[in-house]
Amino acid sequence: MPDNVPMHPVKPLSSRSLDLAKTFVRMNTVSANSNLALIHFIRDELLALGVKSRLSYNSDKTKANLFATLGEGKPAGIILSGHTDTVPWDGQDWSEDPLSGVVKDGCLYGRGSADMKSFIALALAHAPAFLASPAPFAIHFAFSYDEEVGCFGVRELIADMRDAGVKPLACIIGEPTSMVPAIAHKGGVPLLLLRARQGGAFVADTQVRQRH
Ligand SMILES: [Zn+2]
Repeated sequence: MPDNVPMHPVKPLSSRSLDLAKTFVRMNTVSANSNLALIHFIRDELLALGVKSRLSYNSDKTKANLFATLGEGKPAGIILSGHTDTVPWDGQDWSEDPLSGVVKDGCLYGRGSADMKSFIALALAHAPAFLASPAPFAIHFAFSYDEEVGCFGVRELIADMRDAGVKPLACIIGEPTSMVPAIAHKGGVPLLLLRARQGGAFVADTQVRQRH
């Protein structure tokens, strides 16, 4: 972590959040693989809370995006968005098995633990709180496939949201930014433009355009 990153007091994770993060890390969702086990897990967890998910698949039905609204009937609100795929680790020298999901010295080890399965785990762990919230708008989960290889999945996801008539207030994308809020993804420009143009209602939209 860079020296100039301010340290924030961090609350201990709930055991539920950590358990979910471990579960997700242990699912091999390298972009070349199917992500259906993970997506179906989230779908089933939400269904147990009475929340139905919309799944949009790739052409050969091996991968899916998930979109769900927590607070059905409320105006569209904040999207919590994350990608479910990871980059591979071939040829990399890991001190732990990338699929171990082991916790050592207060850190969760495994591919995707930071980017970005822990965010998805936190979102899912807080689903009951979102459902019980008196907030005047809904919370939406939008979890995509194939982000790491060109943001392919999010295109179907956004199209699916349009079909559903969802016009969110804002989108929070759980990419790791060393605990410092960023107004856009710090990756490539094509990724920024894709998200900004297709997510026209996102708060980040005008901010991104000002930067480019
Ligand atoms: Zn990422």
